[in-house]
Amino acid sequence: MNEGTDRARKGIVEPVAGTTVPRFAGAATFVRLPTIDECHDYDVAVLGAPFDGGTSFRPGARFGPIAVRTASRNIRPAYHPDLGLSPLRRVQVVDAGDVPVNPFQLTAAMGQIRDHAHELLANHSRLVTIGGDHTIALPLLRAVHERHGPVALVHFDAHLDTWDTYFGSPITHGTVFRRAFEEGLLLEERSVHVGIRGPIYDELDLREDARFGFQIVRARDIDRMGLDEVVASVRRRVGDAPVYLSVDIDVLDPAFAPGTGTPEMGGVTSRELLHLLRGLDGIAIVGGDVVEVAPAYDHAEVTALAAATVVFDIVTLMAKHPLAY
Ligand code: MN
Ligand code: MN
Repeated sequence: MNEGTDRARKGIVEPVAGTTVPRFAGAATFVRLPTIDECHDYDVAVLGAPFDGGTSFRPGARFGPIAVRTASRNIRPAYHPDLGLSPLRRVQVVDAGDVPVNPFQLTAAMGQIRDHAHELLANHSRLVTIGGDHTIALPLLRAVHERHGPVALVHFDAHLDTWDTYFGSPITHGTVFRRAFEEGLLLEERSVHVGIRGPIYDELDLREDARFGFQIVRARDIDRMGLDEVVASVRRRVGDAPVYLSVDIDVLDPAFAPGTGTPEMGGVTSRELLHLLRGLDGIAIVGGDVVEVAPAYDHAEVTALAAATVVFDIVTLMAKHPLAY
């Protein structure tokens, strides 16, 4: 869809311009987007999933959506120079608010997130969800699977998140992608982890991950390969499959994202992460999330701003490439 086509003539509701109302004023939605109630129809929705009951170390990602929306005020969303478009003019993007998750019952919360996402994904719409801890990716993948079938997972993270159980629990932020594999939500041999690093409990974790058909690009591989070769490798891996893009903000080095639950030394810089994401221009992204922002450990909103920028980039990638139905 090009700017100035049908959707534009119907009247896209855009955020109020930062030159009219300063960015520190106005709506408290993501980049001051209209709410879902203000639009009859939408192409992309930004959703908050403030659940952190699956965290294994520092809690606090339930405050991620609030912090990311606040930090998103810093972004000027009118034009994205690096991707070359005005995403919020090309398609209708809305803020769908937060899933009212049950903070005490993990299974109930998973059901609420799946149901909410399922409803929002009607009419060929796409969803970018702000966590919450990484547990939320499982119900989101379940909802995406109902609409699109199995997907390729492009997973940016310091951690594999393919443990079997932790303290006897099958669903935690460290086990979600093994569950997704077992449930048939992922395409065989199409998924990839990028940015993996740090010591692990057992070397077996790596062998099992390979058995689930994941490719691993470790953080040190990025030094060796260079960013463009990493991009090429991810693009070869996913091909023309529908892609779910899951970004754990701890893929960034703690210098760039201190406000997270399980930081690991030796991560990528924010500039490198944006280079990798923008290199995915053109792949068929059917859904995405940005998770694990825990604002209590943040400083000067650096983690929240990084996450907000990643959310905006994913929205822009979606706006640039409408899905062919
Ligand atoms: Mn992680
Ligand atoms: Mn994770």
